[in-house]
Parts: sequence; structure tokens; C-alpha cells
Amino acid sequence: MATGSPTRTTCPYCGVGCGVVATPQEDGTVSIAGDRRHPANFGRLCSKGSALGETLSLDDRLLHPEVNGRRAGWDDALDLVARRFSETIAAHGPDSVAFYGSGQLLTEDYYVANKLMKGFIGAANIDTNSRLCMASSVAGHIRAFGSDTVPGTYEDLEEADLVVLVGSNMTWCHPVLFQRLLAARERRGTTIVVVDPRRTVTAEAADLHLAIAPNSDVALFAGLLDHLDRTGLRDRDYVERHTSGLDQALAAAQGRGFPGAMEATRLPAEQLREFYTLWSRSERVVTAYSQGVNQSVAGTDKVNAIINCHLFTGRIGRPGMGPFSLTGQPNAMGGREVGGLATMLAAHLDINRPDHREMVRSFWGSPGIAARPGLKAVDLFRAIGQGRVKAVWIMGTNPADSMPDADAVEDALRACPFVVVSDVTRTDTTRHADVLLPAAAWAEKSGTVTNSERRISRQRAFLKPPGEARPDWRIVCDVAARMGFSEAFDYRSPAEIFREHAALSGLANDGTRDFDISACAGLSESAYDALAPVQWPRRPGEGLDGTATRFFAEGGFYTPDRRGRFVPTPVAPPEASEEFPLVLNTGRIRDQWHTMTRTAKTPRLTSHYAESFCEIHPEDAEDAGIGPATLVRIVSPQGTAVVRALVTERQQKGSVFVPMHWTDQHAAQGRISAAVLPAADPVSGQPGLKFSHARIEPYEVAWYGFAVVRNRPETIPAEYWALARTDGGWRIELAGAAPAQDWATYAAALIGRGEDPETLSYSDQDRASFRLATFSGDRLLGALFIAPQPVAVSRTWVVERLAAPAIRGAERLRLLSGRPGADQPDPGPIVCACFSVGANQIAAAVADGAASVDAVGEAVRAGTNCGSCRVEIRRLIDAATLKTAV
Ligand code: SF4
Repeated sequence: MATGSPTRTTCPYCGVGCGVVATPQEDGTVSIAGDRRHPANFGRLCSKGSALGETLSLDDRLLHPEVNGRRAGWDDALDLVARRFSETIAAHGPDSVAFYGSGQLLTEDYYVANKLMKGFIGAANIDTNSRLCMASSVAGHIRAFGSDTVPGTYEDLEEADLVVLVGSNMTWCHPVLFQRLLAARERRGTTIVVVDPRRTVTAEAADLHLAIAPNSDVALFAGLLDHLDRTGLRDRDYVERHTSGLDQALAAAQGRGFPGAMEATRLPAEQLREFYTLWSRSERVVTAYSQGVNQSVAGTDKVNAIINCHLFTGRIGRPGMGPFSLTGQPNAMGGREVGGLATMLAAHLDINRPDHREMVRSFWGSPGIAARPGLKAVDLFRAIGQGRVKAVWIMGTNPADSMPDADAVEDALRACPFVVVSDVTRTDTTRHADVLLPAAAWAEKSGTVTNSERRISRQRAFLKPPGEARPDWRIVCDVAARMGFSEAFDYRSPAEIFREHAALSGLANDGTRDFDISACAGLSESAYDALAPVQWPRRPGEGLDGTATRFFAEGGFYTPDRRGRFVPTPVAPPEASEEFPLVLNTGRIRDQWHTMTRTAKTPRLTSHYAESFCEIHPEDAEDAGIGPATLVRIVSPQGTAVVRALVTERQQKGSVFVPMHWTDQHAAQGRISAAVLPAADPVSGQPGLKFSHARIEPYEVAWYGFAVVRNRPETIPAEYWALARTDGGWRIELAGAAPAQDWATYAAALIGRGEDPETLSYSDQDRASFRLATFSGDRLLGALFIAPQPVAVSRTWVVERLAAPAIRGAERLRLLSGRPGADQPDPGPIVCACFSVGANQIAAAVADGAASVDAVGEAVRAGTNCGSCRVEIRRLIDAATLKTAV
């Protein structure tokens, strides 16, 4: 691990699971590049992956254990955790304690946590944030296949003639895979259909966008099944030899058919017909789906409605065809392998089967084993709030912001007698921890992860853990030993854990279960270290050479009769609410990840969207009296959030969209999960994060502000604020109910004072508008702009001044105006994060004749690195072309 030696590892963000080459530099920075040899990305990285090197600073890291907010030694902290868990179990039974983990954990971390809870504590109360991500896919797979198997591979998306993306903004959420798909379309003319209520950037790139009504996916695919049946598309041989349950599924679909699909989806007949015809005529069709399918109270039915169509046509497990679940998190799949959910046992064994439970118990040599499934995430936090769970250990995740009904989750944690949090940084969850344990972060951890196509890759450490931080597997084993289970948790390395995990997968398997990596059970430490990315084999030994493996082309399902099951999917129209007439949809944006603990550290990634927003259709905005860029309060029966209004026709009327990312660390009232309903799918337990009843109202303020400051203020005196990092400091959006008595004093408190300060200011007569800039020597220390309406200044240009080495003379005055002079073009809002190219620069390139995305790239470099912004560039070209034509 000498400075300068490159390490092959994997990106810790999304389920694409890209290979990364990290090379520490002499100056202490780390250069990041895509791994050309990794079969997930072949060298590509998206904006988030490319910026990984900028997220490694230690400024916000947890470096020492803390007990009740005070620094403690590891021994004291671990002793306390073991003692309180043991005492709680002794007094109230094993079901009175719980673990809540994360798809960010490595498989080895997951394995030991699951082993401790299910085998040695004897309860199954170990759930993870994967419950929020793909639990409906797991449940749908198990209902149809008898196992949690993703049948296909990424290559299938490149070999398909038709790719249908359902509830997936793949351009932003699985960017590298989307780039692979676009490249395949270039080569072979793939047709891309997007099914999504919103006109996302992915929908804009599609050949056909079906803007269905929210939560009408089941009706869409039940209608498709009926259509396939009516048009004679049944693969009779496949259905007869390999499946069961078709009659019931068809009966449910026929009950509604085409008219039912039209009514539920609210699509025009010709669009629906076009889609059904396309799907029917394309032998090579992949239906890929993500959170728009999974995060629903009907998520499992949505998954099965899709799978039914693939089983019916036998389009599964062959090149270029099949249903494909796009996993949200980097290691959600690895967590599933080891049973890291409350409803699973390790190695895809069934927690409901006594023989499987006994098999695992005896393999582990544990005194007992959980006799039934444990509490799923929503129920788990409810049980904490009700006092039924009295000790919880949260590992590497931030439920105070990510869970639905997040205020109730915070109340539950506040009331819980004993809360342990192991994490990398402080979050809104860590403020409730009795014991805080500093965990090693991505760059410091070693183990394995499994991506959406079942490919296991090594994550390798290239930095030493800072301070006293330790890997998660080590922390869990240390607690287990103190609880009296030292022999079973006496691991010396992640490789040792992986070998045990691999051996368990082969136990009494003989092809009866999909997950069998027992060929890896004998890996030496060095072989584990060198392990190349490998897909789960379909039979022992297969796939070890890196070739793609697929399941179910010739049947061989993992149900008791080895037949794939059709599942009837009844259509239940979503309930309406008069008081809360809008549908609140939450999701990701391009450059942020989860609750921003990493991605908010890099100015490049915060430049795309520096504050949270609510996408609102213009008619809904007008009805509610909300103007563009004003502030909007989203109100639901659960809670509220305040964000910026983004009025756009991309949003369907009757629905609003708010990003999931903002927390109390970066905004005053931006936690949208506080307003999300905790209703969950009855089969999978996955909450319906994309469908909450809500209403919107103006958030009345007397003033708006925008500031740039060199140092993060300790407090921000405003009812509304949103804070983001920039090169050289921070940018802050502000708004308040009453103007400050003295704006100059207000500005001084926000900006601070440097050496040799010089301040320029301007205010109008009634003091409704105020502008101030303070310089320390040649450099800008901070600037504040106050106005009665949303502040209209060139934010990108002002932000850039903060990093400028010298600002003198006329430029100081220009800063007060908030706009550059003619000699300094305004870049406009940043579109390309990789090269910091703004919308105005792209517009100028188009005006100069750049008529294609590639031509814009040649002119200003935008879109030439990761490609995540290419659809937005296309949108700007189209808008400019339209303007010229008009
Ligand atoms: S697509 Fe982007 S975020 Fe996802 S794994 Fe690849 S580089 Fe990371």
C-alpha cells in the first residue's frame, strides 16, 4: 500500500458496482479512474464515482468511540454494548434487541452481524436499509422463482432489441449502465421505452415515454399479459414444461385487460397499443425496473406482473431478454446472499423451514437459531417507539432521515433505552446514540460486494483507517466475543469470513438453491485478495472465468416442483385523499447519494443542485399560489418539509417530486422523509416511498437571501436555509419571516471577519434590498445578497469569486451587482459536474453552431467524461433550436 501503488476496488455508490482504480498521490490526494478490466463498467465512471477522491477528507470523520457524548476507549465502549445487549436479552428475551444495517456494509460485515443476531442472540431482528431499496424485488423473485435470483446480466441490456425501463431514472441512478445501453442503441438500434409518471432525463432520452398514472404499473403489465395471450404470444412449450399457475394469473389479467390498463394508467389508447405491440414483436426484450416499482405498497405485485409476461413468452435467461431488477445500493445483493434481512436466512436458505434453520444452526455451532422472521424496517422502528425493542444497533446508515415518517423514527430513537450507532461521520441519527463507534470508511475497508447482475467483486483498502476507526466486521466480532461467543467469531481477516460464507452456500445444496459459491470456500488469503469479479455460477465452477451466467432459460426454478410460478396480480386503485390531494414522490438526483454524507463533501457534486427542490406542474403551482423559485411547504399527514419550488411541465399534474437527500446537516427544513407515509407492501414490507398523500402551500417569507462564506457558520439565523460546499467555502440560500434589524450586523455574523477586512455594501431606501461583500486582503471573505423576492444573481459566478486568488478594483463593485462584466462570461447553472460547465456556456456553444451533444463536447468539454449530463445537454440544444425556429 505504498504511496503511488494503484489499488483495484469498487465504487461504493450504486448497484452497478463499477470497478475503480485508486492511486494515492504524493501530496496526500487520491486519483480515481475507472477500472478498464472490470466487466461492470470497462473503465467508465459517472460523476459520483469520478469524484470519489474528493470525498476522503477527515474533517467530519468519527475518530474515537464515544459514550454518552464523551470520548471513550474501545474496551469501555465495547464492554458497555455487550453488557447492555446481554442484560436486555436476559431480562426481556432475544426479540427485545435489534440490528439495523446498510447496503453499504460489505458482505463479510453483513455475514457476521447476521450470524450474531440469528444464530447466537437467537432472534431475526436484523433488517437493513435494503428493505427500502429492493425488498419487493426479493419477494417477487421468491414468489415466481422460488429463490431471490436475478436471471440475467448487464450484457442482456446491450443485446436486447427492446429495453423497457420501469420506474427507473437510470440516467441518474445507474449512470454507467445507462451509458452502456445508449452505446448499444448507437450500435444496434435498440428501442428504449420508459415507464414513469415523471418526464425524467431518462424519459427524454427514450424512444417512447409512457407517463402512467402513479402506481398503475400492475394494470399496465396485467394488460400486457392479457394482450400477449390474445395475440397468441404464449411460448406453449416453455409454459407447459417449466411453469405453473398460468390460469389464475390470466384470469386476474383478463378481468381488466386493455380497457382496465387504459383506465388505470390514463394513457392514450394508441400509446398503450404501441407499447404492447413493441413488446409483443420483440423477442429480445429486457424489462428493467428499479425504485418506482419496488418502493410501493404494491411493489411485489408490480414485480410479479412484469415477470409473468417474461414467463409467458419464455423470454427469460437467454441473451438479450428477461426481467431485470436494478439494485439501488452497492451491496444490497451481497446482504441478501448472507441473509441480511429479517425475513431471510444465510445463503438463500429459508428461515421458515425448520430443516434449513437446523442446517445453519449446526453449521455455525450456535446454541439456537431464530425460530421465525424478525421485524421488517418500518415495523422495527415502530416496535422501538412502542418500547418492545429496547436496544438497537444501527450500522452505517441514517434512518433518522431515510425512513418514512422520519420524525416518528427520531422520537422512537429518543425514547429507546439503548442506541448504538457505528458509522463514519456524524449524522442526524448519531445524535441519538448512547454509544458511538467509529467505523472504517470505503477507502479503508476490505471485503466483497455483489452488484445488480450477481457479480461479486473485491473492495480493497488503499488507506489506513484514521484515528481509532475499525472495520465493521471487527467491531461486530469484538462485541460477539464479549457476549460470550468468542469461538464462533474468532476471525482474523475478511477472507476467513468469506470462506465460511462460501462454504455455507454449498451446504447440502446439490443445485437445489440458486446461490452456490462453494468453489470459493478454499481460497487462500492471497487468492481472496486477487479474486477477480465473478458472477454466481448456475452450476458449480461456472462463471469463474468471468463469462456471463444466466438462469432459467431451460426452467430449473427453485420452487418445490422446479417450475416458475405465475402470480395473479390484482389491480387495486390507489386511495385518494381530499385533504391531501397530491401524490408526493421522492427519489434521487444525479450527483448526490443517500443522505449526502459523502457526496456533499465535494463542490463538484453540489454544483448541480445546491439545495432541495419540489418539482410542481405549472397548474398545481398556480392553484396553490406558488411562484417559480419561491419556497414551498409540503404537508402530509405525517409531517412537513420546506424546499425551493421548481415549476416544470416535466412533473405530472397532481404529483410533486422532492429529492430524498437533504438532512438537518445541510438544510433547515429539508427532511422530506418526515412527510413520507410509512405504509408498506404487505408481502415485502417495503415502504411506498414514491406515493404519499400531500398538499403544497406557499412558505411565506419577508425576505430571501443568498450568501457565500469562507467558513461554515456555526448557526444560521434564518427560518429557511440550505448550505452547500463550494471551492473555497460554502454557499447558503436563506429566507426569513422578518428582516434583520441591521443587515450589516447580520452579514458580519454570517461571514465573520478576516485580517485587514474591507467591506462594500449597498442598500436601497426602504432596506428591502441589501448587498454586501467583505474582502480580506485581495480575497473575498464572503458576500450576502438580500431581496424581497428570490435573489436574482449569477450564483455560479459569485461562487467562483470565493476561490479567486485576487479580486480588485471594478470586480469588487461587480460582485455587489452579482453579475460578471462583459469581459467575464457568466457560466450559468452547472450542467457538467466533471468539467464545471454551465448552461450558459453550452448555450453559447450551440449558438456558435454546435448542433449535437458531441459537438458541444468538442467545444466546451461538457459531457465528454462520465456522460451523466448528456441528456441535459441534449435538452439545452433542443430548447435553443426551438427558440431559433420560433
Ligand atoms: S454508476 Fe456511478 S455511482 Fe454507480 S457504481 Fe458506477 S461509478 Fe459508482
